[in-house]
Amino acid sequence: MSVKIPYYQAVGKEKEVFEHAYKNKIPFLLKGPTGTGKSRFIEHMAHVLDKKIITISCHEETSSTDLIGRFIIKGAETVWLDGPLTTAVKEGSIIYLDEVAEARPDVIVAIHSLTDHRRELFIDKLGETVKAHEDFMLVASFNPGYQRGFKELKPSTRQRFIAVSFEYPESKIEIEILVNETQVEHDIAKKLVAIGNKIRNLTELGLTETVSTRLLVDAAKIIQSGLPKRLAVHVAVVEPLTDDLQTLVALKDLCDLMI
Ligand code: ADP
Repeated sequence: MSVKIPYYQAVGKEKEVFEHAYKNKIPFLLKGPTGTGKSRFIEHMAHVLDKKIITISCHEETSSTDLIGRFIIKGAETVWLDGPLTTAVKEGSIIYLDEVAEARPDVIVAIHSLTDHRRELFIDKLGETVKAHEDFMLVASFNPGYQRGFKELKPSTRQRFIAVSFEYPESKIEIEILVNETQVEHDIAKKLVAIGNKIRNLTELGLTETVSTRLLVDAAKIIQSGLPKRLAVHVAVVEPLTDDLQTLVALKDLCDLMI
């Protein structure tokens, strides 16, 4: 059975860069705000390279134990269970650490030896070192733009990766993404992208995160399934952005004029 390749519209040279990073066994870092296609890109590339991908969504509780593994009690015995990172290292998959900067610092410590010439993982609970499989690749993403709860990646960590920035695509490409993802009419996609760009340029609103391609895709989807256009834009684009009443009203009025 052939599996359909996840659709990804290239914005720059990211596909070529990724292929070369993979060939040379260099870890890959995707930088950029949420909803800019980072996860989709990795799914797409994993398909192109015919690789299995293991995704971990990191949060402030994610620890090296979650990634490396732990002992569990099974009946009367204690048995070791490999975590997703150890599995990927052993079987030669791509591990994707989404929002890696959110994880606990011991995660960063744990991946260091995998990101240089050693390409090995130390399992402290077993006192074992595992050499990475030929095809193992480490991929991580991080969002440099958070204004609150801002977490940085230290230069000593960042410099172990090849890094590519993911931004909102130019209009022509973003319209194409909307049409491809949702089969929405070109004219509606064009209007949604114009709304996205308009709000992105309203920097004075001080939004923590602005309109992502994901929000526009969601708006297009619910328009396609029959929700009135203005309502769709209100609930898919405006409401997720802010809770400030005045800003909500102003943005909804603005969008009503554009769709
Ligand atoms: P991120 O991982 O950056 O938060 P995602 O990869 O989950 O973002 O993208 C969110 C959605 O936006 C995807 O499900 C897809 O519909 C759409 N999308 C964004 N950029 C692209 C792109 N370049 N090609 C195809 N779809 C895209």
